[in-house]
Amino acid sequence: MSVDYSYEPKGLDLYSIEEKWLKRWDESGIFETEIDSNKPKYFVTVAYPYPNSPQHVGHGRTYTLTDVHARYKTMRGFNVLFPMGFHYTGTPIVSMSERVLAKDSELIETFRNIYNLSDDLISSFVTPEGIASFFHKEIKLGMKEMGYSIDWRREFTTIDEGYSRFISWHFRLLREKGLIVQGSHPVGWCPKDHNPVSQHDTIGDVEPDFIEYVLIRYNLEDGCILPTATLRPETIFGVTNLWINPNLEYVEIKIDDERWIVTPIAASKLMFLDHKVEIVRKLRGIELVGKFAKDNFRNVRIPIFPATFVDPENGTGIVMSVPGHAPFDYQALEDLKSKRDTLHEYKMDNIVSPIKIIISNMYQSESNITPAELIVKEFRISDQNDRNLETATSKLYSEEFYRGTLLPNTGNFAGLTVKDARSKVKDVLKSKGLVDTMYELINKPIKCRCGSPCVVKLLTDQWFINYQDSFWKKLAHECIDSMSIIPEEIRPEFNYVIDWLKQRACARKIGLGTKLPWDKDWIVESLSDSVIYMAYYIISKYLTNTVRRSSPEYINSSQLTDEFFSYVILGKGELQEITKSTNISVSILAKIRRDFLYFYPVDSRHSGRDLVPNHLSFFVFNHVAIFERNMWPKQIVVNGSVLMQGKKMSKSLGNIIPLRAAIKSYGADPLRLAMLSSSELLQDADFSFDLVKGVKAKLLTIYSEIIDYVSSTKSTIITTITDDLKKMDFEDRWLLSKLQGDISEVTKSLDQLRVREALQIILYSMEKDLQWYRKRKLARGNDTLKGLVLGEYYSVRVLLLAPFAPFISEEIWERMKGKGSVSSASWPQVNPEKIDAEIEGYEELIDTITTDIQKIIKVTKIRPNRIMIYTASKQKWNLYKKILDKMNQQSTGNFGQLMKELVRDDEINDYAKSNTELVKKMMGDILSDSSESRLKKIQMRSFDEERALNDAVNMIIQEIGQGDIRLEIISESNEQKFDPKKKSKFSRPYKPAIYLE
Ligand SMILES: [Zn+2]
Repeated sequence: MSVDYSYEPKGLDLYSIEEKWLKRWDESGIFETEIDSNKPKYFVTVAYPYPNSPQHVGHGRTYTLTDVHARYKTMRGFNVLFPMGFHYTGTPIVSMSERVLAKDSELIETFRNIYNLSDDLISSFVTPEGIASFFHKEIKLGMKEMGYSIDWRREFTTIDEGYSRFISWHFRLLREKGLIVQGSHPVGWCPKDHNPVSQHDTIGDVEPDFIEYVLIRYNLEDGCILPTATLRPETIFGVTNLWINPNLEYVEIKIDDERWIVTPIAASKLMFLDHKVEIVRKLRGIELVGKFAKDNFRNVRIPIFPATFVDPENGTGIVMSVPGHAPFDYQALEDLKSKRDTLHEYKMDNIVSPIKIIISNMYQSESNITPAELIVKEFRISDQNDRNLETATSKLYSEEFYRGTLLPNTGNFAGLTVKDARSKVKDVLKSKGLVDTMYELINKPIKCRCGSPCVVKLLTDQWFINYQDSFWKKLAHECIDSMSIIPEEIRPEFNYVIDWLKQRACARKIGLGTKLPWDKDWIVESLSDSVIYMAYYIISKYLTNTVRRSSPEYINSSQLTDEFFSYVILGKGELQEITKSTNISVSILAKIRRDFLYFYPVDSRHSGRDLVPNHLSFFVFNHVAIFERNMWPKQIVVNGSVLMQGKKMSKSLGNIIPLRAAIKSYGADPLRLAMLSSSELLQDADFSFDLVKGVKAKLLTIYSEIIDYVSSTKSTIITTITDDLKKMDFEDRWLLSKLQGDISEVTKSLDQLRVREALQIILYSMEKDLQWYRKRKLARGNDTLKGLVLGEYYSVRVLLLAPFAPFISEEIWERMKGKGSVSSASWPQVNPEKIDAEIEGYEELIDTITTDIQKIIKVTKIRPNRIMIYTASKQKWNLYKKILDKMNQQSTGNFGQLMKELVRDDEINDYAKSNTELVKKMMGDILSDSSESRLKKIQMRSFDEERALNDAVNMIIQEIGQGDIRLEIISESNEQKFDPKKKSKFSRPYKPAIYLE
């Protein structure tokens, strides 16, 4: 798919409007934020981008949402700081430059064809600096063109010297607090790059996740070790035999100072786990079948049997068989018993049949059938290659783990739960030297960005951040508990991640970034140097760099010592001494500290959903480790990603749309709206250019409506009505009342960043109300479309739209002669005096009746010349109000109970008793109302249907559109009424009866 450049909007040149306002914003410095003691501050940040490729439409959602948030808060009266930096750290930029250097055709084609970059430019990408500086500029321009309200004076990159000094300070602090440890730990690893890999380094952004196997040693008679991989060492009491796949190739290896037999894949995995491995000889699995191995733990001999379910990709290729508790083992044994030929072939007739299945734990009351057999029967398993065995296995494993207890045949372990016994058995095996450890990737295959499959490596002398520390976890939980998480439904994910996080490698040997301050062979990796940088935005403004020349206000990065950061960020140390040691003046130091105290903590942190398990959680962890409690972050906002017409955006699908190209042909405002209007926060947004076109058309309608109004009116355009409301027409009062509801709903939605909901109101439901208003006004015959009511309505609508579509809103605001910039105008307030439930009810009734009449005409095909509308009698209204009250108090829909209550009520009991059908109908009416409209009806003191309908006679007739019609509205209790078909008795409150002829 490509951008449709031919699409030209009529009547409005969005491009020049955007240029005009970008220039104005830039000149006025409207988004440059300084301390303002008259306003509460609001510090909003979003994950900074990696400049290793241009921004595409998919990147735009998170940033646009953050900008809408920032703009909304500004209009709500906050002094908002929204800064931006650029993340150069790590391998992505380096590996991309290596790919260009290696003339990687896929990458070069992408640059050429999707991003339209010239060959000259691409040839400058052979260095990391060439790539980073170009895309940094591109991304920044794109962000400006999108209208983001960023304070660009605070921009930095993560390889700036000042930033490196900040990260050094951060890491020294973590180490002082004992949160950085050195040791041997398994990590995801790229064998080609010789570097650990995490989410940002893998194709498809997958975080390598692995499990730990216990390798239990069995010995062949010649001393060679057969290691079996298990996750359930406590089942060792039930082992009856070993399994080997007769068709596979195995190797005998010399590992450290022992001899083992494993699969070749397992041998290579063991090499990465800090073992010295040499291959001695190759052998077929079949060679081992029928031999015996020694179980060193129980001191018994067990036979080796053949099984085809044994998977060379998993574990060692040798499996300990626990037929009592493992469905695979049970089934393989059954298969073997039933194959007389095989038994004969391997000469095992006399070995297999006496095998006695052992039950070593129990999770339900005893039965004479083993747990594995039970579940194999339940799942109707046919043989050991049955796919359902996986499901059966995970079901049984989980039952036993949570509910099982070890039986007396396990000796000292009897009575322990499976959960407890698992680690205790492992410890005992370990103390006897009977086990080793092996790691296996769970979510394989995972590929490094360089293309190599990742493995698990046991890294020795590696530096780790110890997210496993239980006190630290406790603080992180406290922070999450105290935070607002938007949307709330994602909170449990954070709690899960905090519990689950373990030690995490925090440094790499290659890539861009800051050296570990105490071990210069290592570079702090990208998910570790990006967790407290929000504090650096306060400082970066004061640093001289290529943009800012030196001046007395500015300091040099070489002046940023640990003492400087500790003073500014933590308030530690003496001002005078720090001035001496840093050569920064007292006034500037104090000023930076004041800035920090004013802007910190972070009020809202935005990011994509994929960063919950890493970045966002690390952000919380590191803040609670470094900062005082009052500086902990206040809020996290998470959003889903962007799909292109239902599909994931990817280079291979060719559906990546460069952001700047899209802005050029569709305009920034339509793009902003399209990114936010198609889905709720956590859902993936479905983007398409049809959507952009639709939104753009809507924006143009709003624009031209208001501009028409502006050019036709002589009165003050932006206004707030203060006249006597009672003197106005119904529809004027109605429109103002509806407007209050819209303000309140949009405000509520934006407080929770339910942007789709807000946009539905601003773009669609407000438009619908305007159409109704126009219809009513025109039917009245007087040309009041220029009135003040519209002035108020339009000005509020533009204000509500401004955070979403800032360019067009500024333009309209200016044309309306609004004061100042709409970006800093005040958010509209609800005026309770203008809320009028009765009038809203009137207009709703008029609308319903008009539609009902149209329906009747359509069904009966009558061309009416006389229409009668009968309103309900006073008696019916009394009954209705009683029912409404009683149903509201009881909040019940039980007819019998309601009747009992009505009969007890002297005012109404006779009437109710003789009209039970009517009571039933009214009850149905009330039940089918929304709770909102029911509430309105309860609050209303009076509701004069005749008055409402009489006000709209002309419009109803016009809507029916059939010329000469006589329309009468009359109460059913009026004796003089024309009612040839006795229709009037069907009238009910809010449901007048209709007759036409
Ligand atoms: Zn690699």
